[in-house]
Amino acid sequence: MSARVKIRLHVDDPLVAGCERVASPPQAHYLRRVMRLGDGDQVALFNGRDGEWQARIATEGRGGCRLLVETCIRPQVFETDPTLAFAPVKRLRLDYLVQKACELGAARLIPVLTRHTGPTRVNVERLRANAIEAAEQCGRLSLPEVVAPVRFDAFLAGCERLFWADEQGGVNACDTFDEAGPGPATLLIGPEGGFAEDERAALTAHDGALAISLGPRILRADTAAVSLLTLWQAAVGDWRNDCARQSTNLPL
Ligand code: SAH
Repeated sequence: MSARVKIRLHVDDPLVAGCERVASPPQAHYLRRVMRLGDGDQVALFNGRDGEWQARIATEGRGGCRLLVETCIRPQVFETDPTLAFAPVKRLRLDYLVQKACELGAARLIPVLTRHTGPTRVNVERLRANAIEAAEQCGRLSLPEVVAPVRFDAFLAGCERLFWADEQGGVNACDTFDEAGPGPATLLIGPEGGFAEDERAALTAHDGALAISLGPRILRADTAAVSLLTLWQAAVGDWRNDCARQSTNLPL
């Protein structure tokens, strides 16, 4: 294995120096069979709370694996914003949307059930699994909080600073974010069927909501989510911080 590749695994348990974690069967399979690691090889562990830790592998039996936690190599950081709210789309596109949202630093994911939302059942565990996979890959230390699906009206009632992507027009997203400046924010993507008229009316009437445009073409919901998060991060989000890339030894 190339020395430059850093393997990161998410674990649920607390991480402290000297503790031992048992790799889950899929993790053990990945470490031993896929990456061909063995006794004494290093991996990095994180749990979304305790920072990132260097650990060593101790193989066990034919396929098992224990992880001996040694030193903290990065302190924990937490993202507090932005929240990405989206009308659920079909499975593979939803997987993609969640993975990319995690890579782009969304702090919270809220599936919103609008009138024209296609899938109304959302597998929150699957969303979380996708977020974990993306966090492992992109070097992120926290996981986005995945909230249970909420109906449009209840969602809107709880919003304070909302930017909703309006395919029928709105203010240019870059200009809007530059003007609005940093701070807590919820970004909303509508369903493939578009917002219903009464939903549009409610959004327009909401004091804290601003319609924004993502350009002249109609984007699919997953593309719109990536665009919106990218523009937010570039204009007022963590692309502006020195700490955006907190480690020099992430996979290149
Ligand atoms: N069925 C609709 C398109 C929905 S696209 C139609 O044909 O008009 C899904 C969501 O992506 C939209 O609700 C909106 O939130 C977002 N979106 C797509 N293209 C956009 C654009 N150019 N500007 C702003 N939002 C866009």
